[in-house]
Amino acid sequence: MHYPISYEEPMFRPPSEARSLILQPAIGCSWNRCAFCEMYTGKKFRIRDLAEMKEEIRGVGEIQTDIRKVFLADGNAMVLQVDYLMELLGALEKAFPKLNRVSAYALPGDLFVKTDDELKMIHEAGLKLIYVGIESGDDEVLKLINKGETAASSVEGILKAKKAGIKSSVMILSGLGGKRYSRQHAENSATVVNAIQPEYLSTLVLSYPHGMEHYKKRFKGDFEPCDIPDLLRELKIFIGATELDQTVFRSDHASNYLILKGNLGREKERMLQEIDAALENPGMAGLRPEWLRGL
Ligand code: SF4
Repeated sequence: MHYPISYEEPMFRPPSEARSLILQPAIGCSWNRCAFCEMYTGKKFRIRDLAEMKEEIRGVGEIQTDIRKVFLADGNAMVLQVDYLMELLGALEKAFPKLNRVSAYALPGDLFVKTDDELKMIHEAGLKLIYVGIESGDDEVLKLINKGETAASSVEGILKAKKAGIKSSVMILSGLGGKRYSRQHAENSATVVNAIQPEYLSTLVLSYPHGMEHYKKRFKGDFEPCDIPDLLRELKIFIGATELDQTVFRSDHASNYLILKGNLGREKERMLQEIDAALENPGMAGLRPEWLRGL
């Protein structure tokens, strides 16, 4: 049978959306300039025709009525205009009677340009969760990696969505500033997440898809990559400085050396002890075996 959705690869989604229906109303990332990211460099950003999207949704609704979760791709679907989003969410509600969550990646700027009432309307229409790669709460690092956002814009954008009832899952990128900026990256990132109090928080580890030399140029050559103990110490400073009430924390992405999971702050001390154990005795402490070579 012909499946009614056509995808433009490569496509990415958060791990927690593995069972969701993925729709692709926006192709690529409207920013597409972060120094460390190559997810959408092969795609020219565009928004797909709304009628085409509605036709896909109607088609899936005819064969899969039990859809409960939908994820809107690609890189920042929250850039979509409010009217477009409302039409899309309306079509989803009509096609999938059991739908209980729509989510999307967002840039803080995409949220900030929408009014409080618009965000509330979008939330009431079904958009319940946004995934935001804050990457760092340190303005120097954010500028160096060309994120196009600041610590303040991240806080303002996400808090605006939160006020409208939209939950957030935010990501911090370990090692982003190299050795030189490691401490301020960790401390200022904690300050930002403390201000947001996100429902979900995760850390991933920086990789170099364009090569180390390309990334170094961003730092005007002044970039010394963190080694594994540096990354663990950075994580310890970050977690130690968090003051979170009820945030589910995960560092279990394939890029992470040490798998940590828990509730911050209830389980903060336990997680700090696990980091200490990994630093003191890496062979015993649950570090991924493939990373032990780097210690
Ligand atoms: S905003 Fe996100 S998807 Fe876009 S370039 Fe930056 S990291 Fe990549």
